[in-house]
Amino acid sequence: MTTRRDLLRLAAAGAAGAFLLPHAMATSTTEDTFFTWKPAADDAKVAFGSGGNALVLRGNNAALLVDCKNAPYGDCLRREAGPGLTTIVNTHHHADHTGGNHAFSKDLKIIAQAKVTDRVLGQMNRYISQLKEAATQLGEATGPAVPKVRDEAKALYLRVEKLRPTDWAPTQTFDQNETLDIGGVEVRLHHFGSGHTDNDLVVHVPSKNLLHAGDLLFHQRHPYVDRDGGANTHGWMESVTKAIALCDAKTVVIPGHGELTDVEGLKAQIRYFEITRAAIEGAIKAGKPRKEAIEIKPAELAALGGANIQPLVMGAIYDELTASQK
Ligand SMILES: [Zn+2]
Repeated sequence: MTTRRDLLRLAAAGAAGAFLLPHAMATSTTEDTFFTWKPAADDAKVAFGSGGNALVLRGNNAALLVDCKNAPYGDCLRREAGPGLTTIVNTHHHADHTGGNHAFSKDLKIIAQAKVTDRVLGQMNRYISQLKEAATQLGEATGPAVPKVRDEAKALYLRVEKLRPTDWAPTQTFDQNETLDIGGVEVRLHHFGSGHTDNDLVVHVPSKNLLHAGDLLFHQRHPYVDRDGGANTHGWMESVTKAIALCDAKTVVIPGHGELTDVEGLKAQIRYFEITRAAIEGAIKAGKPRKEAIEIKPAELAALGGANIQPLVMGAIYDELTASQK
């Protein structure tokens, strides 16, 4: 909960001009947008930074936004996405993909897999934490877009007690498959079962040969395996295999985290779990205790980013594999 002390601290930080953005979100001094935007196809661009990668896709008098980043940046995302958004899709419930939903939920459709709703309603604390982090972590963000974002994030935090979990909830859900018409552009949403969570979507735009894999793909970095959120690495590999079946060699693949890639990026995600699962299976067969097993560091994965979370991945796989033996 927000305490009076938090609010006073925030006010003091704001007065001192110290309401800065987290270091990891520092933006370039040369960019006039807060997020780093890159084209992914004709009329399609991707925003990097401050949460999962977000896709904006434009059709005729309609536009789609896939994923909404962290809570403090929803208003900024809406502004930088440009006018005419009609539909929002969340690839899964995690707060770095749904945090900005509050900036869209009052007047736009937010579409997600059916299990997203309860999970979003149950994680208000995560959104508030994101707002607190933005308020208290001193960063070095500079550039023309930063002061406005700082003001927006601060304003949101100051009215956080008026916000409700439903401000983040999807307005429309489905179970397995849904097809959208975004101003004449067909967009197919697929839920292939439990993978990164129990509510992952792959967003496929056949006419643009474009695929947003959500967090089923962590490109060139260790993935977050959220067992409490329904993650299952075996299902994850199966889901990615089904996503690969939607691609050809020229498909542009947007990962949840990391740079734009192609089908080879998806194949590497499967390889990642083949390697890590084999390592843990070997450790279990050899009778190694969990605390030793999770420290295994396969040489093939040494170059990946996010090495600090590697023991968490190995632990989640250990738990998954030992649970299935019981
Ligand atoms: Zn995620």
